[in-house]
Order: sequence, then C-alpha cells, then structure tokens
Amino acid sequence: MDVSHRCPNCQSINDYEIDLSKVLEYLSCQKYDNKIDCGQLKIIIRPLRYEEITHFNIENFKLQKMLSQLSRLETQGDDNGTIKAQTEIYEKIANMQLSLFEVSIEHIETPEGAVHDKEFINEWIKNSDKEFFKNIKLKLEKNKQQWDLPNQDVICPECKHHSKIVITMDQSSFFGKN
Ligand SMILES: [Zn+2]
Repeated sequence: MDVSHRCPNCQSINDYEIDLSKVLEYLSCQKYDNKIDCGQLKIIIRPLRYEEITHFNIENFKLQKMLSQLSRLETQGDDNGTIKAQTEIYEKIANMQLSLFEVSIEHIETPEGAVHDKEFINEWIKNSDKEFFKNIKLKLEKNKQQWDLPNQDVICPECKHHSKIVITMDQSSFFGKN
C-alpha cells in the first residue's frame, strides 16, 4: 500500500510503501475487550461491523459539520435561532450515541441470567445513569483506539529527516470533544 506524505522539514512530498503484512500482524495481536462491569451487571459489547462504522462515521460527520456551520452563524448574531438549532443538533448527537450503544451491546449478564432482548436492553440504556454512559463511552473509545494503526517511521529521501506517518482506519471520531 502506497501512502503520500509531506516531509515536515523540507516540505517535499514522497510516496512510501507501507508493509501491510506488518499492519495485519499488529491488528491480529489486538484483543477486543468486550466486558464492562456495571455493579451487579456485566455489559457484553461486540465490535462494530464495517458498514456500521461507516454509517456512524457519516452521521457523525454530518452533525459535526452542522455544528461548525452553526458557530459561523453565531458570529453573525442570530441568537434565538442558533440556540434552538444548537439544541436540536446536540439532541441528534445524543441520539446517535444512544443508538451506537444499542448496536454495540450484545447482551447483559445479570445475576438472574443473560438478557438478549433488544427492547429490554434499549429501555435499560435509556434509564441508565451518567456513570454508566461514561463507562461505556470510555470502553468504546479505548477499543477504537486499539484499532488505530501504529505510526510508521519514514525517512525523507530529499533531506534524510525522520518523521512518522499516522494511519487511521477512519478520520473522524464518534464523540465530540465536550
Ligand atoms: Zn525532507
């Protein structure tokens, strides 16, 4: 796989070959941590499928774009309009995170046994407290980070400067910075 990269020292752009077998080797060593302890309950999550990742990335991208367009409007001074629109976008982001959780949870282990019923799980998520949301968010982010590929060291052929190429599976993040 060839990747173009600009040297931060001399600004020349060169193609580098990334060894895919090394990348695959790295990925195969990553373990997917699928358990979240939640008091008496254990939440079992599963990795997202490729089309699910794509779906959430596109949704997230749209919403982030709407937010940045909104902050441009804000500087033009339409206060009432922007607050209403902002609330709507934040609601949509919250809903997207909720469906991300719903999709990610495989089942819940309770002292009485495993619960697989999707409707029950969704209802349970909606009634969960902040702490739970924080935990599952952290876990999903940690798992996602693991799937980012290791940086590749390259040497610029023009000036011999060493730099790193960052390779990610996707460019956007599921969660905003707030
Ligand atoms: Zn260079």
